[in-house]
Amino acid sequence: MRKLTEAEAVARLKRGKAAFQTHIKLNFEHRALDCGACPTPGVCCTDAHFVNVHITRLEAVAIRDALALTPRLGDDERRAVYVRARDCVGRYGLTSSGDTFARTYSCPLFLKGTGCLVHRRAKPAPCVQHACYEDWADVPPLDTQWREQRRVERLNDETYGAAWEWLPTPVWLTLVDPDSDGAELLRLTRVWESRRARAPRGPGRAGGTRPRPKGRTLPVLRA
Ligand code: SF4
Ligand code: SF4
Repeated sequence: MRKLTEAEAVARLKRGKAAFQTHIKLNFEHRALDCGACPTPGVCCTDAHFVNVHITRLEAVAIRDALALTPRLGDDERRAVYVRARDCVGRYGLTSSGDTFARTYSCPLFLKGTGCLVHRRAKPAPCVQHACYEDWADVPPLDTQWREQRRVERLNDETYGAAWEWLPTPVWLTLVDPDSDGAELLRLTRVWESRRARAPRGPGRAGGTRPRPKGRTLPVLRA
């Protein structure tokens, strides 16, 4: 498999995410409830009983880049995102091993009054797909999201080989925190590489090598 540089892969990731976002917007979002009129704006991002969005290493790098570039954040606010992520990992007991999908959290990328800090540049696929619909028939099919996530997996494979995993967003934010020494990511990289070396890869449920990420997939329906 040809090895992509991280910069090439992030560029491809962004192009694909933009196309996915446009597809959801044009084909589904017009039937969703208006977030601007939501009585509880952002609860879909901050409800710690609900959110368990997982992302990959490449998406974490794209989010870090987006946070670094956004003019909406000053240095202190930018640092506060990583501090919130670290708090979140501790408060909700998020981990980088075991059944990471079993725990939920309040997303540190949501900022009251601003919304999702990576909405335009680096939003995870389940978040792009998510909206509130009154009718189940209007909800985007899950296959759409899974296809996008398989594409993201392939980009990670082509960039990092075995050295990545689906993990809760706050965990990945702590691993790519520009102020961290990188030791924990290096340790995990070795674990992931040795695990894959011991266990030959076989096809997963989505036709790839990993099970489909569960993530946040259920729409919120409102009466
Ligand atoms: S997705 Fe739903 S809960 Fe979230 S802001 Fe929009 S209307 Fe509100
Ligand atoms: S990444 Fe953005 S849209 Fe997704 S849960 Fe976090 S704040 Fe909400």
